[in-house]
Amino acid sequence: MDTTIRIAGIVRESIVDGPGIRLVVFTQGCPHHCEGCHNPQSHDFEAGYDCELGKITAQLDKNPLLSGVTFSGGEPFCQPQALHELALEVKKRGLSLMTYSGYTYEQLVAMAKTNAAVGQLLDDTDILVDGRFVLAERDLTLTFRGSRNQRIIDMAKTNTSKQVVTMQF
Ligand code: SF4
Repeated sequence: MDTTIRIAGIVRESIVDGPGIRLVVFTQGCPHHCEGCHNPQSHDFEAGYDCELGKITAQLDKNPLLSGVTFSGGEPFCQPQALHELALEVKKRGLSLMTYSGYTYEQLVAMAKTNAAVGQLLDDTDILVDGRFVLAERDLTLTFRGSRNQRIIDMAKTNTSKQVVTMQF
């Protein structure tokens, strides 16, 4: 597998980036520059390092305790093709996919009209946490999100009902 993803890093086991025990891929490069971002070192598209997909899938195969994978950032939707390919490997292994984005769901749907890979990554995603981090709406009591404007979206129900269906944790 010679596809590479530009990443800031990987956390092999996390319980704070989605339900269950998850492997987290922090992608490198983010155009949003939210004030108060908890991960500013992930903004520079030239920083980080290239990671082959095979190295990440090997980690998945090593850990039977994983319930899923989370794509965080950085902005995952800046690398939709490579992450779609990784998402297919995640699904092949029966794991769930949670994706964070600084774009809203509606913006991603609009982007997908001219960028098929964005649509594919959106389709691969089981749980989408959308929207920029807004410092004025920060709430430390929230689970899996930093500010109140961000939504945790159930993508299967959203696709079926054709309207955004959120999840509570
Ligand atoms: S979208 Fe996320 S990584 Fe990008 S600037 Fe905002 S909080 Fe930081």
